[in-house]
Amino acid sequence: MTRILRTRADLREALRDAARPIGLVPTMGWLHEGHRALMRQARTADATTVVSIFVNPRQFNVRDDFTRYPRAESRDLAICESEGVDLVFAPNAAEIYPPGFDTTVSVGAVSRPLEGAARPGHFDGVATVVAILFDLVGADHAYFGQKDAQQVLVIRQMARDLAIPTEVIACPTVREPDGLALSSRNVHLAAEERAAASVMRRALLAAVARWEAGERSARALRATMLAELADEPLAETDYVSVADMTTLAELDRVDGPALLSLAVRFGTTRLIDNEPLGAAPVTDRGLARPA
Ligand code: AMP
Repeated sequence: MTRILRTRADLREALRDAARPIGLVPTMGWLHEGHRALMRQARTADATTVVSIFVNPRQFNVRDDFTRYPRAESRDLAICESEGVDLVFAPNAAEIYPPGFDTTVSVGAVSRPLEGAARPGHFDGVATVVAILFDLVGADHAYFGQKDAQQVLVIRQMARDLAIPTEVIACPTVREPDGLALSSRNVHLAAEERAAASVMRRALLAAVARWEAGERSARALRATMLAELADEPLAETDYVSVADMTTLAELDRVDGPALLSLAVRFGTTRLIDNEPLGAAPVTDRGLARPA
């Protein structure tokens, strides 16, 4: 039986005698196969699995994106139940940010490029809520999707700097048959936008193919992605990036592990995706960790 907890106090109480190791899967709900994969990984490795469901207002820099973010709690709870999740933490905003709440966790350099530049304040919101969740749950492991690769790096940096012992584990991106990464926001795509969105994966794979053929110029790899995206009239590119896998600084040449990433708008829906280059194969600890 999955237990649902609404308050910090009830969550702490429920976890007091929980069997270890404890695994945490933080989500914003509207759960899909990508989230299920994280839950399964937790279930395999951990004696107690905790899923949090919280549409975190502080990580949305655009109000409209927050209001129209899809929500379906009873469906989400049924999914958690079917995955054998032990505890679901589904607080309201006032429980996470009570009156007088006045602390922001702000991670440095790795949070600034890419999504940090495109969505000011986004990673402050993410780091703040994840710090609260890590402290409340005291998990041994926390599972995140490689789809949000920069988020993994930001949270690892945060956990290391704040001496939080929870190990941050990156899990492979789950995709639709045409390569589109599963995302709660995909529900907003009109049929023709949904069909067009597969161009993101094609752009990444075109750059991977050029890299495999020996291309090491980051500019050429960016141009490959842009050319592929330009073929799709419904795709409006926000950025394409070829960055160092550890620092996310843009590269001139790809001489070590790198991350190809992109953000693209289809109508009013903005999607992101990425693919590592030359890193260890995507395993449960797939993203390179700083030494
Ligand atoms: P979200 O609910 O979108 O905040 O995502 C919660 C967690 O699920 C994050 O760690 C995401 O990176 C991860 N996630 C989202 N989509 C996918 C996917 N397609 N494959 C794997 N993990 C995902």
